[in-house]
Amino acid sequence: MKVIIGQGSCGVATGAKKTAAEFERLIEEKNLNIKVDITGCVGTCYLEPIVDVYDDNEVMTRYVKVKPECVLEIVEKHLVNGEIATDLEISDEDKLFIEKQQRVVLRNCGLINPEKIEEYVAVGGYEATKKVVTSMTQEDVIEEIKVSGLRGRGGAGFPTWFKWNAALQNKADQKYIVCNADEGDPGAFMDRSVLEGDPHSLIEGMIIGGYAMGATEGVIYVRAEYPLAIHRLEIAMAQAREKGFLGKNIFGSGFDFDLRIKAGAGAFVCGEETALIASLEGERGMPRLKPPFPAQKGYWQKPTNINNVETYANVAWIIVNGGAAFGAMGTDKSKGTKVFALAGKIKKGGLVEVPMGLPLKEVIFGIGGGIKKDKAFKAVQMGGPSGGCIPSALIETPVDYENINKTGAIVGSGGMIVMDETTCMVDMARYFLDFTRKESCGKCNYCRVGTKRMLEILERITKGEGKDGDIELLEELAVKIKDGSMCGLGQTAPNPVLTTIKYFRNEYEDHIYNKK
Ligand code: SF4
Repeated sequence: MKVIIGQGSCGVATGAKKTAAEFERLIEEKNLNIKVDITGCVGTCYLEPIVDVYDDNEVMTRYVKVKPECVLEIVEKHLVNGEIATDLEISDEDKLFIEKQQRVVLRNCGLINPEKIEEYVAVGGYEATKKVVTSMTQEDVIEEIKVSGLRGRGGAGFPTWFKWNAALQNKADQKYIVCNADEGDPGAFMDRSVLEGDPHSLIEGMIIGGYAMGATEGVIYVRAEYPLAIHRLEIAMAQAREKGFLGKNIFGSGFDFDLRIKAGAGAFVCGEETALIASLEGERGMPRLKPPFPAQKGYWQKPTNINNVETYANVAWIIVNGGAAFGAMGTDKSKGTKVFALAGKIKKGGLVEVPMGLPLKEVIFGIGGGIKKDKAFKAVQMGGPSGGCIPSALIETPVDYENINKTGAIVGSGGMIVMDETTCMVDMARYFLDFTRKESCGKCNYCRVGTKRMLEILERITKGEGKDGDIELLEELAVKIKDGSMCGLGQTAPNPVLTTIKYFRNEYEDHIYNKK
């Protein structure tokens, strides 16, 4: 028998370490021969702290919201007498949160101990790396990724194989592969959960990508606000080196590849790949003009490929199961699965991985359980500050790149902030614009000054001091900022304002004309 306690940031924040300490204390006190271990985020963050008890046949019983004062009951009933502590057991309805998902990226999260490489290897870890470096050419790997249809999960949705191939075609004495783990959207925590719960899946994806494009060095750019993720990555990299999966002559293939971590200072603009490269080089994180693209001249002017955590975490699965198996999930143009972080006024907040193309309603109501306190669903903000809001009338929209773009929002990196009938949409737009204004690097006038002017108008409107013509002025400024900004931050900053004007113009008018 063993006891596994979820210790991703969500678990730790709700007191999982104290729960674990109480288990250890009582197990020792009762002289039981039972191991207490950790795992990452299971996905059902709303049920933390989560405790899984495995019997000797590996049958698991899940207990939820296990505060230290609940531990004695589980120890006495389950660990000592072999009976289920039914009042703490997860409900059948809550089990559906995971059962309705299709997990590729999150395949090991909440199941393995992220600090023990043996557990990753036991579930087939590093088999993909071995296969790639010992039996596949660079072109074979890129072809498999092409067949899978994998598109970058960081927001832009650019075909992964295309970027890898561009880096392969650009000949150089040195190439780099970089992971953007600078997840900065408010309400997004997909990448953090993978880093904390299954860091080897990222490492494998980067080794394979490095092999495919001819890079021997990789850098993981992680935001410094993710200390647990950095800690687990450091452990995982050291263990991978020790096993010979990382470093010189991987699997005796002659391929050398190593990784290092760079902790970023948390600038949202560093999610833009040229700004990230500037930051890596020790410069202020400001976007650079493209072309040249990073695949031509990136980090230290060498061919460089950048993908985010989720993109790389798909790669080993694709190599083992085949690109066609991945491509069989999702839609024609948006293949595979996507991880979403459900947050806001949702009953069941957490991580959801589903095939692309599933209707929004199924994610928010079918899996997320609907709106807190059974209030009416008003809208969901998708794609963070660069995205837009999707109103309740469009709840049947399939969640894929093409259909979400048609609404004016974007899939983005996967943040979904759910709003109920009490949310003021003008205030919501103001919040996101305030965020992007603060995060603007200041290089372009329209982004630096235009967002400030838009924010002033929004603040005026929300204070009941709006004037006739303000909505039109917002729309005019939004177009100019989109057209006159150099990078994605400025080009997308007005999106929350534009989508709220499009779908909730009456709220703007109420503020302005009825002084509500
Ligand atoms: Fe900087 Fe904004 Fe211009 Fe991007 S659009 S380069 S964030 S000023």
